[in-house]
Amino acid sequence: MALSDSQIERYSRHIILKEVGGKGQQKLLSSKVLIIGAGGLGAPIALYLAAAGIGAIGIADADDVDLSNLQRQVIHFTPDIGKPKVISAKEKIQAINPDVEVRTYHHWINAANIMEIIKDYDFVVDGTDNFAAKFLINDACVLAGKPYSHGGILQFVGQTITVLPGKSTCYRCIFPTPPPRTPSPPAPRPESSESCRGSSAPYRPPRRSSFSWEKGNFWPGGC
Ligand SMILES: [Zn+2]
Repeated sequence: MALSDSQIERYSRHIILKEVGGKGQQKLLSSKVLIIGAGGLGAPIALYLAAAGIGAIGIADADDVDLSNLQRQVIHFTPDIGKPKVISAKEKIQAINPDVEVRTYHHWINAANIMEIIKDYDFVVDGTDNFAAKFLINDACVLAGKPYSHGGILQFVGQTITVLPGKSTCYRCIFPTPPPRTPSPPAPRPESSESCRGSSAPYRPPRRSSFSWEKGNFWPGGC
């Protein structure tokens, strides 16, 4: 697919980078990224991916925009209060870049639907705010062989990991089990004996966890 004159102008700052170039921009325009969570993490990610010319962006979030969201969830504006976050995000993405196809999922991602949703995407972004979802996304992406980026934040501390299934550690390699229900972030456990790195065997989540978040929101093999 050749770039149009307006696309060459829009993406000129990408195209002049030898690491991207016209072919790289065409690759971005033909790529599909799923963002799970349109909140504090997913909002700025969606804005930047839209501006960069990702061809298809999926956004999954069951929540509506609330006044208290606006201080950090920068894709949502004051007139959007009460609107589904996925609709608010879709409107902004389309305003930024009409090249982007936006697919919305106005429901929670859970163990029953995640495999069906992620199969259509090249890359997944975890912008969720709870450990159950983060373990679910990790396990599903590792099982499906989908590269994904995890993001987490608590007050002034942030954390990000990009997982390449079969090539890198995954979230469970670092955090074998979810933490207890406390406001403190989990302590890293880099010496975990459970690892999927470099393994040619099919991935199986560790089974020693006693984790018991609400049913249906956790990969069933995880505990
Ligand atoms: Zn792992």
